[in-house]
Amino acid sequence: MSDRLSYLADQIAAWKQAGTYQRLRVLESECAAGARFDGREVVNLASNNYLGLTSHPRLREAALEATRRFGVGSGAVRTISGTMRLHLQLEERIAAFKQAPACVVFQSGFAANSGTVAAILTPDDHIVSDELNHASIIDGCRLSKAKIHVFPHKDARAAGAILEELQAQPGRKLLISDGVFSMDGDIAPLPDLVRAAERFGAVMMVDDAHASGVLGRAGRGTIDHFGLHGRVDIQVGTLSKAIGVLGGYVCGSRALIEFLYHRARPFLFSTSHPPAVAAACLAAFDVLESEPERIESLWNNTRYFKEGLGALGFHTGLSETPIIPVMVGEARRAHELSRALFEEGVLATGIGYPTVPEGKARVRTIVTATHTPEQLDRALEAFSRAGKRLGIID
Ligand SMILES: *Cc1c(COP(=O)(O)O)cnc(C)c1O
Repeated sequence: MSDRLSYLADQIAAWKQAGTYQRLRVLESECAAGARFDGREVVNLASNNYLGLTSHPRLREAALEATRRFGVGSGAVRTISGTMRLHLQLEERIAAFKQAPACVVFQSGFAANSGTVAAILTPDDHIVSDELNHASIIDGCRLSKAKIHVFPHKDARAAGAILEELQAQPGRKLLISDGVFSMDGDIAPLPDLVRAAERFGAVMMVDDAHASGVLGRAGRGTIDHFGLHGRVDIQVGTLSKAIGVLGGYVCGSRALIEFLYHRARPFLFSTSHPPAVAAACLAAFDVLESEPERIESLWNNTRYFKEGLGALGFHTGLSETPIIPVMVGEARRAHELSRALFEEGVLATGIGYPTVPEGKARVRTIVTATHTPEQLDRALEAFSRAGKRLGIID
């Protein structure tokens, strides 16, 4: 039999040639600030575990207790028989936390974005979308078959101009942006975007995956950070990053949530979270409110590490958050730097095209609340040695 998939192997060979082929690193310990990957102890600058909640005792206990009482699975999709009391409690908890009327939880942030955008729009509608929005938003836009209008990164004036031009056109308009951008760590100009949406009658949607647990009071996100409560129609967040577990959610009006219960395809056609996941997430929101020092320490570490990289001569792009990219240009260089850092005892991922534009490859670092000053210093020394060895800094 001839191998009809041989073109895949050809493509992989080409990636190896170009130096952009990536082996999966294997985590052999808990996800923590210091962790073991592929048999090596490293300072972990590659997780989204912003607050160290993946192994917090209260979350761990909540998951174990829920497993003992309710088993390991929900047994069905939410709309058939897979809605457990814990799922509803979590949705109520998140809605209260976000000061929103209602909330629906999805299996992931990816499912929340793609499922929601695809459900609420039709081919007659228009989407105005930041060019650096997350892949799950882009997929949702494509699935909706609405017309997609991309505006230059963070350019609220351009977004407004597109909405103004669309005024004469029939159909609904959706203005959509990440709250914090996952590859650059910069913050969306939400007040200006919200004003543009209000001016031209567009629905406003914000994906706060990297802002939840990071920005705003007790980590309530960018809407809280900018004081925009009641002015953003659809707030998306993830339970997989700062919350430390797994899942995504959408907050908005009761009608929006009821509509998604009936029309969002990941909600309708994919099984709900195991009880342990819902219980651990519930505990995480308690921790956010009872341990504010975690967020404080996250930001202290962010400042310290960013200043340290700058002092070494690295360019950290537009970062305004704990996501700190170290810009290197070519994808091959990013992967070389990542490999050299690993040898020096630091895990930080090389990211190139198509995740970021060609020529804007980087090693992305994310500091967390739980990194110690010694770990951050060790990471800076590794960056210094690896950066000099590869000629990225002098
Ligand atoms: C990570 C991420 C998501 C997806 O969240 P998951 O819960 O991991 O599926 C969505 N949007 C943005 C901006 C993200 O960074």
